[in-house]
Amino acid sequence: MTVRVRIAPSPTGNLHIGTARTAVFNWLFARHHQGQFILRVEDTDLERSRPEYTQNIVDGLTWLGLTWDEGPFFQSERMDLYRQAVQTLLDKGLAYHCYATPAELDAMRAAQEANNEAPRYDNRHRNLTPDQKAAFEAEGRKPVVRFRIEDDRVISWTDLVRGQVTWQGKDLGGDMVIARAASSTEMGQPLYNLVVVVDDIDMAITHVIRGEDHIGNTPKQILLYEALGKKIPEFGHTPLILSPAGKKLSKRDGVTSISEFQEMGFMAPALVNYMTLLGWSPTDSTKELFSLAEAAQDFEMQRVTKAGAKFDWDKLDWINSQYLHTMPIPELTDRLTTVWQAAGYDTQAVSQPWLAQLTTLLAPSLTRLKDAAEQAQVFFTPDLTRNEEASAQLQQANVPEVLAFIAQQLQQTSDFTAEAAKDLISQAVKQHGVKKGLVMRSLRAALTGEVHGPDLIETWLLLHQRGWDQTRLA
Ligand code: GLU
Repeated sequence: MTVRVRIAPSPTGNLHIGTARTAVFNWLFARHHQGQFILRVEDTDLERSRPEYTQNIVDGLTWLGLTWDEGPFFQSERMDLYRQAVQTLLDKGLAYHCYATPAELDAMRAAQEANNEAPRYDNRHRNLTPDQKAAFEAEGRKPVVRFRIEDDRVISWTDLVRGQVTWQGKDLGGDMVIARAASSTEMGQPLYNLVVVVDDIDMAITHVIRGEDHIGNTPKQILLYEALGKKIPEFGHTPLILSPAGKKLSKRDGVTSISEFQEMGFMAPALVNYMTLLGWSPTDSTKELFSLAEAAQDFEMQRVTKAGAKFDWDKLDWINSQYLHTMPIPELTDRLTTVWQAAGYDTQAVSQPWLAQLTTLLAPSLTRLKDAAEQAQVFFTPDLTRNEEASAQLQQANVPEVLAFIAQQLQQTSDFTAEAAKDLISQAVKQHGVKKGLVMRSLRAALTGEVHGPDLIETWLLLHQRGWDQTRLA
């Protein structure tokens, strides 16, 4: 059997982290089993679906490296197939037209609520006579199509994550609507559970791996497979991603779409690495850094946890920083150059080796790509604003003289190298009888406007190449 799995996002918003994580697990599962990963765009909600969201989803999956083998398929182009399936169920007597009006359904729910009963459709139109139907039609009522769900059915499956799961038919809300209202001759829009099952059958999906929020749909879908006489796939329900506080994710948590993570300066391999750890761990559970390909070798659904996975910004930042710190300098230089250009810095004004040197200097302190914009500001903008600490440093005893001395010596230095810089510092120490630390701190305050930062000599060399050290020391 060839493993075939799918990701089936609805284009009603940008690619969400939860959907993307489900995509990661499906991708890993497919690759582990040398199977196929299919992209299906569930755009049956015509009012809320937008082409720009489809684009965002396709771009996001591509950026993350979650390549698919088939698709994207669009449900909106497959309506005939779904209508045929609804018709099959009608013909078999497993589905029927229900004429209940919204007002009747509301009244029914209100009565159930008053009796402390769970809301459900009471199957009232299951066995209408032809005369009753004709009377409703004559009133101008438009029927929905409902699929029969017997209350006494017990539905069980062995979930790839959760083990044995059992549902009672009576808990599924009564006979389920599988197609919207239109008329009894013309069928309305087929709905989610039906459409998914028809597609999963048609696309020969062997394993349905999706978020736990869909677990209540699975028993309904299993009944549909049975009704259509098709083989039931395996199901695996992955834990939800929770907020750092362990609650349901909300917009406030800032954990939303993949494109936002991209904008925040996370790197795709780092984000995908982190997402893999949201609910899964490798056999060697101490291993935290790995590529998608490495994870795929090791990926088993048994190691997916049942408990919700808390989103941890610190961990994501740490993983991202590890990728940045180990990236080859030429590649990182290219990426940072893009960040610097976006920040409005003139990267044409400097040489490629200078950019690479600046990259080497800043790389160890980067957490997110975007950090490079702020950290590089003093190297790209001639004007300097000094923070309070730096200004205080420059007002300390001996500091103005020391810096004036260095500035003066600098003018006489033709070949300014790291050695020359160190030598100037030593000379200043001797000449003014001050501590080396004072000279270093003061130099940094004068050159960068701050008292902390990356390697001072390298910083100085870079600024010297721009001719900005003289002016800042003056
Ligand atoms: N369109 C559904 C979603 O985005 C997919 C559900 C499924 O995987 O069956 O949640």
